[in-house]
Amino acid sequence: MSTDVFCKIVKGELKSEAVYKDDDFWVIKDINPQAPVHLLIIPVRHFLKIEDFAGDGILLGKALLLADKMAHEHGLDRGYRLIINEGDHGGKLVPHFHIHLLGGKRLGPKLVKE
Ligand code: 5GP
Repeated sequence: MSTDVFCKIVKGELKSEAVYKDDDFWVIKDINPQAPVHLLIIPVRHFLKIEDFAGDGILLGKALLLADKMAHEHGLDRGYRLIINEGDHGGKLVPHFHIHLLGGKRLGPKLVKE
């Protein structure tokens, strides 16, 4: 049983500001938003990374479609950015697969050199 922060959120053990819930996904507001709209698409079942969806690619596709639907429902008609961080080089902090949906202003450079 995983105890990461997103597992706790979908179990109701931690508070979050959810904007959408179904049996497969929750969409919540990021606690530290990096854009006027910053949502996280989170699977209810614990998946760590993309390869964990190998037996359920349709669910991964649903996550992308849900992100696009959320973008339109939140007025991101001029565009948006989806980000999936993986591993320490990718900057992943929460060990539970999630997609960041960002928008609401013109976003900065797509790649950051540091
Ligand atoms: P990562 O770097 O793992 O892709 O991003 C994790 C994201 O989860 C970060 O943007 C962070 O602000 C967000 N986050 C971490 N803990 C919580 C929490 O308890 N509630 C919410 N709503 N977001 C969180």
